[in-house]
Amino acid sequence: EHGAVAGRVERATPASVAGAAAHGVPRPPRAPLPPYGWSVLRAAREGRLTREAMLAAVEASGLRGLGGAGFPAARKWRAVLAHPGPRHVVVNADEGEPGTFKDRDCLEREPRRVLEGMLLAAHAIGAEACWIYLRDEYAELRLDLAAEIAALQAEGMAAGTAIHLRRGAGAYVCGEETALLESLEGRRGYPRHKPPYPGERGLFGRPTLIHNVETLWWLPEILGTPDGAARFAGAGRRGRGGKRLFSVSGRVRRPGVVAAPAGVTARELIEEFCGGMAEGHRFVAYLPGGASGGILPAAMADLPLDFGTLEPHGCFVGSGAVVVLSDRDDLAAAVRNLVRFFRDESCGQCTPCRVGTAKAARLLEAPRWDRALLEELAAAMADGSICGLGQAAMNPVLSVLRFFPEAVP
Ligand code: SF4
Repeated sequence: EHGAVAGRVERATPASVAGAAAHGVPRPPRAPLPPYGWSVLRAAREGRLTREAMLAAVEASGLRGLGGAGFPAARKWRAVLAHPGPRHVVVNADEGEPGTFKDRDCLEREPRRVLEGMLLAAHAIGAEACWIYLRDEYAELRLDLAAEIAALQAEGMAAGTAIHLRRGAGAYVCGEETALLESLEGRRGYPRHKPPYPGERGLFGRPTLIHNVETLWWLPEILGTPDGAARFAGAGRRGRGGKRLFSVSGRVRRPGVVAAPAGVTARELIEEFCGGMAEGHRFVAYLPGGASGGILPAAMADLPLDFGTLEPHGCFVGSGAVVVLSDRDDLAAAVRNLVRFFRDESCGQCTPCRVGTAKAARLLEAPRWDRALLEELAAAMADGSICGLGQAAMNPVLSVLRFFPEAVP
């Protein structure tokens, strides 16, 4: 189980590790992982855990896609099963949302648990191949993951299922599932129009189950015991079901990856899991869902963090990247920074996002913000953009206009 702190702050930066690897600099040796029994996968392969039982358990657990969209996992499985094979599983490990680092933590600490989850999902939907799309900034992870895959293949645990490990190329938008598919197929990472959804026509035109790393990481726990699904479902707070990994960063005493019940609040994450606010900082605001999930004031830190709970306030929890800001942070500067990020990462395929993010970044540089124009632009971008990047890019701007009028220039 994850502790409150993942110890990420002491690690080398991905860029430095990538640079070192590219120049052939040897890495410090990695501590060996404990033996792994693959017990749940063996049970599935040997027929002790049937496909129907797996599907029923995933449904009962209430497990949702934890890459950000929160779509019920069992419905994804059924959608893929409704179409004839061959089928694929794609693992979205292109973790690029600012503030999100939980998938990296899963892959570093328990790669075999993620791989077991992937092979369980592949078994359940009768997939012939699994594709792992790993963000290229996780260069050191790629080497470890490749070694783990080779080892499990040598053990015969992947028999009948091909496993492909693919590198991203640094584009944030390739974390969007259809852009990721385009990239896997060897094209520029432009998001596709939906429908058709990947469950019907995904990778190479085949029915494809796409799961985020964390979603797969939970599967062995849910499927591993007869009451695994019920215990997972019963773990939430405030009437919410399930557990989540939150990436908590910013002005807290102990930032890191936190395993917490769905429906936990930001205040609980700070006080109960992260040791309170950092010395000399007063809690003022938080980003509940990375760059795109908006910004909420500390006065609203008792809202349950889960899918659907923050939307009435123009925000969302997404992939659970909670960034805590204090009285020492400049909110207007933070918003400018976030919008510049979206401007730089817009793939340029559609005009509302390509032109809108650039225009918003310019408007935010003005000595006085033109509130009416910013709101009109935000509405056009939300309505007219093809994918979530353009649709959500103005969330931080709208949040600050709504909740922090005193911070608006
Ligand atoms: Fe590309 Fe932005 Fe359009 Fe998405 S919304 S397809 S990132 S231009």
